[in-house]
Amino acid sequence: MTTQTQASGQAPVFSMRDASKSFGSTQVLRSISLDVAPGEVVAIIGPSGGGKSTLLRCATTLERIDAGSVAFGDLTVADTSADGTVTYASKERLRQAKSRFGLVFQSYNLFPHMTVMRNVCDAPIAVQRRPRAEVEAQARALLAKMGLAGCEGKVPCQLSGGQQQRASIARALCLNPDILFFDEPTSALDPELTGEVLKVMRQLAVEGMTMIVVTHEMQFAREVATRVVFMDGGAIVEEGTPQQVLGAPTRQRTREFLARYS
Ligand code: ADP
Ligand code: MG
Repeated sequence: MTTQTQASGQAPVFSMRDASKSFGSTQVLRSISLDVAPGEVVAIIGPSGGGKSTLLRCATTLERIDAGSVAFGDLTVADTSADGTVTYASKERLRQAKSRFGLVFQSYNLFPHMTVMRNVCDAPIAVQRRPRAEVEAQARALLAKMGLAGCEGKVPCQLSGGQQQRASIARALCLNPDILFFDEPTSALDPELTGEVLKVMRQLAVEGMTMIVVTHEMQFAREVATRVVFMDGGAIVEEGTPQQVLGAPTRQRTREFLARYS
């Protein structure tokens, strides 16, 4: 794929083109196109049921698209031929693609029976087939960076919700991903714990991590995102800079949605 994102002129690290998805007779994604350049932080906002989670699940191969394409850099995960057939990459290429991104959900990210350390090290060793000693050293450093030094041997239920989400972020980062996907990472947390998770995400943004973040945290979107995408009814209704979309939305549906937050 040779298309370049407008913002930076750099080749996208993630690219979704004309992606559609239905569950039975319900179309949940309607021809979604989204290119993300290195270092971009894309905040996806919109009402419940609008297709945000499905977009992330299709992006990360947890769900299959019915039409369109998905690629991570030069690695095409799914593509549609002229006759409309969607073809997914081989198992081996999907494995390669999976080590290019990290994914953090609202909750239940961690395996409850594994220590924090094992949670963080599992995929780099099993999926990326990297040496254990190297992965464990990186995991310790990442946990320390997330404010979780000393928690390596604990199991998730011994951590607060905010600590669990920071451990989830460490786990995602330990894959050395090109891009991180977040699906409402703070929605299950109370305000204090939300703050500590957003702080970590803000720091990652400053360091240049490429991220797609589904969020209801409008202040985070305003201050941290380089681009805001408003989704409703399975489609991208409006996108632009935070100033444009949050400050001066042009579409009625965007205005109605944002009015709930002011
Ligand atoms: P959002 O994350 O924006 O709230 P979702 O992507 O979760 O939206 O859901 C979009 C629509 O798709 C909703 O109508 C939801 O009920 C439907 N949906 C999501 N997942 C499934 C599924 N596995 N099977 C059937 N319908 C689903
Ligand atoms: Mg959702």
